[in-house]
Amino acid sequence: MKNYKNDFPIFSLKVNGQPLTYLDSAATSQKPQIVIETINDFYEKSNANVKRGIYPLSEKASGMVDGVREKVRKFINARSKDEIVFTRNTTESLNLISYSMSHNISRSDIVTTTVLEHHSNFVPWQMLSSRTDSLFEVLNISDDFEMLLPDFKKTRVLAITLVSNVLGTIVDATKIIKKARKENPDIIVVVDGAQAMLHFPIDVQKLDCDFLAFSGHKMYAGMGVGVLYGKKERLRDLDPFLFGGQMISEVSVEKTTFRDSPDKFEAGTMNAADIVSLGKAIEYIEKIGFKKIQKHEEDLTEYALKKLSTIDGLEIIGPSTTEKRIGVVSFGVGGIHPHDIAQILGDRGICVRAGHHCAMPLHKRLGINSSVRMSLAVYNDKDDIDRFITGVRYAQKVFTKDE
Ligand code: PMP
Repeated sequence: MKNYKNDFPIFSLKVNGQPLTYLDSAATSQKPQIVIETINDFYEKSNANVKRGIYPLSEKASGMVDGVREKVRKFINARSKDEIVFTRNTTESLNLISYSMSHNISRSDIVTTTVLEHHSNFVPWQMLSSRTDSLFEVLNISDDFEMLLPDFKKTRVLAITLVSNVLGTIVDATKIIKKARKENPDIIVVVDGAQAMLHFPIDVQKLDCDFLAFSGHKMYAGMGVGVLYGKKERLRDLDPFLFGGQMISEVSVEKTTFRDSPDKFEAGTMNAADIVSLGKAIEYIEKIGFKKIQKHEEDLTEYALKKLSTIDGLEIIGPSTTEKRIGVVSFGVGGIHPHDIAQILGDRGICVRAGHHCAMPLHKRLGINSSVRMSLAVYNDKDDIDRFITGVRYAQKVFTKDE
């Protein structure tokens, strides 16, 4: 198993004298040296406002941003780079779509999302439905964590995640979208790719979604760049979300007209440095290749699941097999609050998440308030899992002794 940690300078850190064991990549990934250098380099050698200046430095920065647009297009196999809009993150991408389609939703429509969603792909649709007086529908999951599908005949919008950020399960979005389109060719399908992009390849044409949203910071890029992919004709139907510089065609006292996508949705100064870092992050992923990434993460997930199953009183939330999942595993340890476990692990340099992971409807559906979540990326190794397992056992001992 290759050790990718060497590519990420943060792993030279010690926490309380212990090595950094980072198991919170579902929240944000660490950044490889080449991404950090790219951000630094941009400010040292290319910094200028993009899409504005006609002097060489601005043209250079604009060209770099445009180059990343093409790189993202290729990465997700979009038809045109005009279908790629840069935002701040997944949340902004999803809010942009839901606000901008308000004029297209009527009272007789159904806006559908699922109980699996992160709040970012739940609340915007709930709010859209409330604004437009349409029906808000939330698809449930079976006790085997499979999505329960309705008849989509009257569904106007279906917003669905590719991967649950709590269960780690991969949703069979291709099958669901196929069924939805068969029953309702006009349905608008929005896919949340936040947890998918660094783990397996996505082809938006094969998936046949109308929109795809994701965040650069969860796939080794800087913190301030997100992507909204939209089919050209769907983007054309959306109203602009933010109004301001560089998105207009003409402004007068009487009337304002707007440019086409992507400019129409990219008002204001863009985070060019982070956009450029996304290009480098994609290069990093492509250099390793998804085949290797998937094999590495699958092996580690299997190892972690096996080790977790040896801890008495520990209950994995969701399937405990490696099938159709990524390396995100949530669990509870009988009688111990998830925050207590996360804190004890934190003191030992082990970073995990505790709480509802911005997925309260799912926790409610599962009959729990919170859980501990560990999540893997390419830089993790078996030593990380071993330290984590030892830490969980230690937390268990501390809290059992107190009783
Ligand atoms: N969707 C999913 C499935 C997520 O896991 C997250 C982040 N945890 C988001 C959306 C929101 O991402 P961001 O905070 O980068 O907007």
